[in-house]
Amino acid sequence: MSPEFNLIQEYFTRPTQHTTLGVGDDAALIALNPNMELAISADMLVAGTHFFSDCDPYGLGWKSLAVNISDIAAMGAQAKWATLAIALPDINQSWLAEFSSGFFACANTFGVDLIGGDTTRGPLTISVQIMGEVAKGHALKRSGAAAGDTIWVTGALGSSALGLAYLKNTTPLNGDVLNCCLNALHQPTPRTALGLKLQGIATSCIDISDGLLADLGHILKASHTGASLSLEAIPCIAYVREHLSEPAFQQYVLAGGDDYELCFTAPARVEKEILALSQTLNLPISPIGHIHEGEGITVSYQGKALQIEKKGYDHFD
Ligand code: ADP
Ligand code: MG
Repeated sequence: MSPEFNLIQEYFTRPTQHTTLGVGDDAALIALNPNMELAISADMLVAGTHFFSDCDPYGLGWKSLAVNISDIAAMGAQAKWATLAIALPDINQSWLAEFSSGFFACANTFGVDLIGGDTTRGPLTISVQIMGEVAKGHALKRSGAAAGDTIWVTGALGSSALGLAYLKNTTPLNGDVLNCCLNALHQPTPRTALGLKLQGIATSCIDISDGLLADLGHILKASHTGASLSLEAIPCIAYVREHLSEPAFQQYVLAGGDDYELCFTAPARVEKEILALSQTLNLPISPIGHIHEGEGITVSYQGKALQIEKKGYDHFD
C-alpha cells in the first residue's frame, strides 16, 4: 500500500456516528433528514499566517476542527460531518499522531464524523470543511438584528489575543493567567449547545474569530443597524479587567480575535430566557450593549467615547 494510503488509514480513519459511508471510497455518503437544511462552512489554517509551524500539533488538530464547529454553532446548527484537506511538508509520524489525536478529541467531544478529505505534500496547511444540520428556516443569520435589541457575548474576550501577545514577546504572563490564555488560544471551545438553544431567541448571531468589533460589524452591516457598547460590560478574565485602562488590553478585548465566543442580538423580552440558558449551560452570557438605528459602533469607557485604532484581525494587513 502507498504511504499516503497507510497514513490516511492510520491517522484519519475512525468509526462514524451519522454517516452511511465514510473515509475510503471516492466520496462519502450521508443520509439527509428532509426537514433539515445543511449548514456548510470551511476554514483554512496556514502555517505562518494562522499558527507557528512549530506549534503543538495536538492543539493544532483540536483547533483546526474547533474553529469550524464554531461557525456551525453560530448558525444555530448541529455540526455532524467534516472533511480534512491537509498539506504536509513531510511525513512525520509522531507529529501526525499528535495532530490526529487532537483532531479526534475535538471530533468526539462535539459528535462530528471525519468523512473524507485529501492528503498531499506541500507547505503545512490544514483546510477543514464542516457540515451541520439545522431545522429548515431556523438558522441564525447575521441579518436579523433590530434597533432596541440587546447585544450579548459568551465566555470571556481577549484571553486568546493576550496569549498570542505573550508568545510574540509583547507582554509577560505567568501562572494561571498564562495557562488560561494559552488554553484559550490553542484549544477554543465552540459554543455548540448554546447555538442550538438560541433558535427562536436570537435575532442574529456570529462567532467571534476576527475580533468583537469586526465580527459585530458584520452583523450591523447585514442588519443595516448600528451599535453602542460599554467596554466595562464586556466579559474578560480578572487580569485583563485590571489592565483595561491600557490601550493594548482594550485592543485584545475589542479586536484581538481568536475568541470563538458567540456574539448575538435578542430583544429585551427574552432576557430572562437567556440568563436561564446561561445557568443551565454553565456558560457566562453577558449583555454588552444595544443595537440602534444608523450605522457604526461606538464604545464607551468610563463615561467617554473610546477611540479605537484597529477593529480586528485582517490576514492581509
Ligand atoms: P482520491 O484519489 O479518490 O481523491 P484519496 O487517495 O485522496 O482518493 O483518498 C482516499 C480516501 O481517503 C477518500 O475517501 C478520501 O476522502 C479520504 N481521505 C484522504 N485524505 C484524508 C484526510 N486527511 N482525512 C480524512 N480522509 C481523507
Ligand atoms: Mg484525493
